[in-house]
Amino acid sequence: MTEYEPVIGIEVHAELLTNSKMFCSCPVEFGGEPNTRTCPVCLGLPGSLPVPNRRAIEFVIRASLALNCEVKEYSDFYRKNYFYPDLPKNYQISQYDNPIGRNGWIDITVDGTVKRIGIRRVHIEEDAGKLIHASVGNESLVDYNRGGLALMEIVTEADIRSAEEAREYLVNLRAILTYIGVTNGKMEEGTLRCEPNISVRPKGTEKFGTKTELKNLNSFRAVYRGVEYEVKRQVEALQSGGRIIQETRRWDDDRGITIAMRTKEMEQEYRYFPDPDLVPMNFSAGLIEEQRSLLPELPQARKERFMKEFDLSAADAEMLTSTRAMADYYEEAVGAYPDYKGISNWIMGDFTRMLNSAGIEIDASKVKPVDLAGLLKMIADNVISGKMAKTVFEEMFNTGASPKEIVKSRGMVQVSSETELYPIIDQVISENPRIVQDFLGGKEKSFGFLVGQIMKYTQGRGNPQAVNQLLRKRLSETKG
Ligand SMILES: [Zn+2]
Repeated sequence: MTEYEPVIGIEVHAELLTNSKMFCSCPVEFGGEPNTRTCPVCLGLPGSLPVPNRRAIEFVIRASLALNCEVKEYSDFYRKNYFYPDLPKNYQISQYDNPIGRNGWIDITVDGTVKRIGIRRVHIEEDAGKLIHASVGNESLVDYNRGGLALMEIVTEADIRSAEEAREYLVNLRAILTYIGVTNGKMEEGTLRCEPNISVRPKGTEKFGTKTELKNLNSFRAVYRGVEYEVKRQVEALQSGGRIIQETRRWDDDRGITIAMRTKEMEQEYRYFPDPDLVPMNFSAGLIEEQRSLLPELPQARKERFMKEFDLSAADAEMLTSTRAMADYYEEAVGAYPDYKGISNWIMGDFTRMLNSAGIEIDASKVKPVDLAGLLKMIADNVISGKMAKTVFEEMFNTGASPKEIVKSRGMVQVSSETELYPIIDQVISENPRIVQDFLGGKEKSFGFLVGQIMKYTQGRGNPQAVNQLLRKRLSETKG
């Protein structure tokens, strides 16, 4: 049977973090009553004229540079013509021949191998309104609050060959875009939308197969599953003598399948032409260099530095640098107390779990980096045990209090001195003569029981190391 290989390109739309829309001064907000943030420009009323948002253009220049694209001094706006009620003008202002960025790339790592994914273009356009299909009757409603928002589109070359590469590309792209502060990258809210186009071809051939485009992928997991499903569907269709139709398909996350939506328009049907209402843009070399100077250390470089500087594994470093906020947090914490591995473990363990269940990002948490560092130091100094630290951290997370305050107010200081522990140890030994005999007779398991009893009397505050050491000493004395 013929073996097939997937050929995948990805289009990503990212809403830019501007205060106002792309061509008018309507505010950018989330939610609210439908059609409350509109004006003659974004409703496309006759006689209204668009004025480009300077900040949005600067953001797209910055993103292009971060994605290793060429940014030419000349760029212009085109009209993409189509008839659909989400677009009151019957055209979308977009870019065509002269996008802001082109010929870039990002590197991804899959199974330990670095692979370069080409970026064909990065351009700016306006978002469309949102159709709401009424649950009763046949009516559709439209909300233009989203219409005219500043949107950046990033298109890859057809370089991606698997669902894993598709997901990895998106993880890396999202990290870069959020690092440079041009989008919030929230896939579940639709501010970052991913649309892969997928085809398959017999292995070893050059010619592309017929492609389908996937929509409604609102998580990294959905991207992986959607691409995997679609590749399998196409291969099975071809192997059983069928053919692929060029169409747009919607991913149904609950059922785990893709469903045909509509056949895809050919490019010439959009009748692209330069927008006569908007003068071409001419960027000075100074403006481009200024945007380049605003780029922070990017995720890949930061990950490599974390591995070297903090002796972290690739997986740990990747996780800690997946958002700028988390990487900043980690660096501030290890700056206060250099337990690199310990702090990394806390952030990726209990802390992340609690952030996820609270539905917040690390920079919105009440726990200050210096306090997490303080907690680790208290464990290292034997002030509290690892087990007590979990209780302390929970309170830090809920109240924002420092670990010192919590330990003090709850009287949680660890018991480790002989004068405090010996009376308790002696009591436990005298209360459990049979178990002590078992231990002395060679039953090592009985030791654990005695430790447990001592911990119970100290209300969990006994320093495990000291308890172990002093109990063994006492028992050997008993034996003698
Ligand atoms: Zn408006």
